[in-house]
Amino acid sequence: MIRVLDKNIADKIAAGEVIDRPVSIIKELIENSLDADASAITVEIKNGGKSYIRITDNGCGIEADQAELAFRRHATSKITCERDLDSIKTLGFRGEALASISAVSRVELITKTADSKAGRRVVIEGGEILENSSIGCPDGTTVTVRDLFYNVPARRKFLASDNSEARRILDVVSRISLAYSDVKMTMINNGRIVFATQGKGNILNNILAVYGSDMGRDLLPVDASGNGFVLKGFISAPSNSAPSRSRQIFCINGRIVVSKVMEQALEDGYKEKLFQGRFPIAFLFLSMPPEKLDVNVHPAKKEIRFDDSFEIHDFIKNAVRQALNVKEALPQIREKNIDHVAEEISPYTEQIKSDPAAKAVTSNAEKSEQTEQVDIINLLSGMRREKQLEKEEYAIAPAEPETRYFDFDDLDYMGAVFNTYITAADADSFYLIDQHAAHERIFYEKLLDEYNREEKLSQQLLIPITVPVSAVVASTEDSWLRELTGLGYSMEFFGNNTYIVREIPAFMDMSEAEDFLLDFFREIEDKPDLTNKRTLERIIMRSCKSAVKGGDFLTDQEIQALIKDLSGCVNPFSCPHGRPTFIRMTKKEIEKLFKRV
Ligand code: ADP
Ligand code: MG
Repeated sequence: MIRVLDKNIADKIAAGEVIDRPVSIIKELIENSLDADASAITVEIKNGGKSYIRITDNGCGIEADQAELAFRRHATSKITCERDLDSIKTLGFRGEALASISAVSRVELITKTADSKAGRRVVIEGGEILENSSIGCPDGTTVTVRDLFYNVPARRKFLASDNSEARRILDVVSRISLAYSDVKMTMINNGRIVFATQGKGNILNNILAVYGSDMGRDLLPVDASGNGFVLKGFISAPSNSAPSRSRQIFCINGRIVVSKVMEQALEDGYKEKLFQGRFPIAFLFLSMPPEKLDVNVHPAKKEIRFDDSFEIHDFIKNAVRQALNVKEALPQIREKNIDHVAEEISPYTEQIKSDPAAKAVTSNAEKSEQTEQVDIINLLSGMRREKQLEKEEYAIAPAEPETRYFDFDDLDYMGAVFNTYITAADADSFYLIDQHAAHERIFYEKLLDEYNREEKLSQQLLIPITVPVSAVVASTEDSWLRELTGLGYSMEFFGNNTYIVREIPAFMDMSEAEDFLLDFFREIEDKPDLTNKRTLERIIMRSCKSAVKGGDFLTDQEIQALIKDLSGCVNPFSCPHGRPTFIRMTKKEIEKLFKRV
């Protein structure tokens, strides 16, 4: 039952988002369809949504005598009193969207409830009702929005190009499609189907439908619960990161949200597994007690506030860590990546080959395919459309990617190649372990351990060494001497811009201790403020680099010792700078290379 909200309540609701571009209309209309419990929604746009938007759903529809009322400001069926604001279960509740949209465009609403024999058609332009009549139509609602801002030329001028408006829309619709995995979403742009999900609740299937099949290849399942929280979804293996956060989708209790807390928790879960400037891909769905969160903070309803953000942060971070602690998270050598044996031609490589201009990139086909497939705007051109649809219709739901916990105890070491890479295997995989990266990881974690330890483990030098520093460093002793002491060094000023070192951390040898110091001083030259723990960690991390030597021959015993140390690390699979320590090749991939399978 649609009612106009009491002014008192209306004033309590944070002001709604203004309709500034086609995508905001799309978002509001889809949310209305979802609130109407639709199980299928089709979104059509033309010219980036500027000239034409049509959203069709099979939801509950609007009673004939209320259809016109839906366009009144603050008219909603979703809340009636102030108390309702505390437990909002719908996406909309302000009763503003249809009013705002119809004020700046030409809108046609066709709607029918299952109970009524006939449907209703309402035409409204610039807020003025032009028609309200009976019509024969299927159950559900279709809203068509034409000529956005036809009556506000100043606003029309601020719209971006068709393509760029379309891009924004595709981004939003794909997010919604993934968030509402049990709703069948179809996206049509300029008469062509861009993607269609099955609406059968299979998140992975939908990811593949929206982003292409390559996207799913390196995704790892997340599945954690505790304390009333349940987190499910998929995250990328560290080797499959993205240059921005655009491939991160967070949902809480079925609502797509923007959450710095979740973003940070996700990234902390990947800590030191990614290079700076790289971001994980993530589709995360959190269920939690609704009373522990507030959704009425932001007008766009995307920003939420947690009662206890530390609790959420730790829960998510640990779930992510756990999901990454599997063999499948290690970078993999795959038969498919090795070009001269790639006989199995994917649809896309085939396309490249038949296009002479693109021949040059054939050897990079794998790479191009990946970028093509994840770049949804390329789907726009319809290039892969048919294939995509074919797949959609006949694809059997892919099994959830299988993952196995990695166990250091299962590894057999065979030696090392090039005095650099330790070779190892377990029952189903072969591994190469980068000695140098591994050593760096161990070195770094030992240093941090040392720093956090009450009683320092130092070794006294028989013959103290002297280390030169710059005048700047010498004169800012206050800011760094305590930190080095905290790491297990004992040193004092020796005059003439040098320090005399009498004790070094117990786990280092002389040259490591000396190289670390030299790097450390170089690092603090222009960043002398070490009070920030993160800065200090970063400096320590950078200073590990030259302290650790690579390319040394290791005896079997030394290999065992190195691996034992590595297995004790919090983060054994990458060096502090984000480079991998392990590379994995499955037995199956090796068999493929030898044409055994
Ligand atoms: P809100 O969603 O905040 O209630 P809107 O202006 O978006 O406000 O919609 C007003 C009302 O119109 C809704 O409360 C709902 O009752 C009805 N309505 C809008 N779209 C649909 C739809 N697709 N299916 C069924 N009812 C709808
Ligand atoms: Mg609404």
